[in-house]
Amino acid sequence: MCLFLEYCGAEGILEPHFVVLTIYRILTAESFPVFSRKHDMSEIVLSGIRATGALHLGNYLGAMRQFVAMQDLPDTTCLYFIADIHTLTDLPDPDELRDDLIGIATGYLAAGLDPERSILYTQSSVPEITELAVLLGNLIPVSELLRLPQYQAKADSGASLGLLFYPVLMAADILGPKATQVPVGEDQLKHLEMAQDIARRFNNRYGDVFPRPEALKEEAIRVPGLDGSGKMSKSAGNTIDLTDHGDDLFQKVRPAKTDPARQLRTDPGNPEVCNIFTLHQFVTPGGEGGGQLGEIVRGCKQANIGCVDCKRVLCTNLDDMLASYRERHEEFADRPHEVREILFEGGKRARVLFRETILEVRDAMGLPNHLLAPEGG
Ligand code: SF4
Repeated sequence: MCLFLEYCGAEGILEPHFVVLTIYRILTAESFPVFSRKHDMSEIVLSGIRATGALHLGNYLGAMRQFVAMQDLPDTTCLYFIADIHTLTDLPDPDELRDDLIGIATGYLAAGLDPERSILYTQSSVPEITELAVLLGNLIPVSELLRLPQYQAKADSGASLGLLFYPVLMAADILGPKATQVPVGEDQLKHLEMAQDIARRFNNRYGDVFPRPEALKEEAIRVPGLDGSGKMSKSAGNTIDLTDHGDDLFQKVRPAKTDPARQLRTDPGNPEVCNIFTLHQFVTPGGEGGGQLGEIVRGCKQANIGCVDCKRVLCTNLDDMLASYRERHEEFADRPHEVREILFEGGKRARVLFRETILEVRDAMGLPNHLLAPEGG
């Protein structure tokens, strides 16, 4: 189909920005593959991943599995990016950041992200994001950024401009590809609301450009850490990493906290207050009334199973559940150049979406189109 008809519809009117977009596409067809929404009414799901350290079971159960499952939603384009610019607010060691980028991408690919069905890219490979953030920053008062909880939490310890600007950059992440669905946890809801607010202000001032990005709220999955406190997190040092297996895995799980009232092997336990049992519920087959999980419940309550044996069962089941992940992880880890290539291609595909938006935004705000030579020259 002719590109003009693709943009304007068979009976459409050739509005200036459509013409500019089409010329832009023709000019850049070789360096940027044509990629658009699957059709006009499709959803765009977008989520970012911070580039910090090894992936753990909490990441897998809380996010990665959902990301992989969303690839199968009909009429949905999934964009997943590694938020390396956001990560700079912590000023990580550059070599560590480089390694983490590849490590995170390797993990998500091993978990089943398919670069044919999703767009996986690094935030820094799409310079239009920072350009859009600068433009959108004009629509939000600094006083509102200063009130956000994540800035407030560090305000007394020399918080940087990067941290203050973080929500605007996040708005650009979301609005750039015109995301319609954004998986968020409670802690990120305020930032999504900021993106919704910026989109509304922009549309009111300059005309409809951005769809409203909606929160895709999943039931929160709380994966407890091995230390029995809070949730599994790298900063708390209480994780089961996704590549842990065999005896290494068991040695890590063995000292984990259980029901504190169960002091002796002969004491009956209470699975409901035990972190190990919570982990069993994610990986062990059956329900509380039957199957292997039911046996654990009965064995614990009647003191027929000891905590060490219970942990051994958990490790065996974890090993089984993550076997195919580890296998694919090894394959990708042996081919880091392929992972870099996937990120590179993903960046190119993402840029097509972001550039379309940037052209619309620049035009709406009265800025010249930096991609075309001036007329009459
Ligand atoms: S037997 Fe299992 S469920 Fe019961 S307290 Fe020990 S580790 Fe927890």
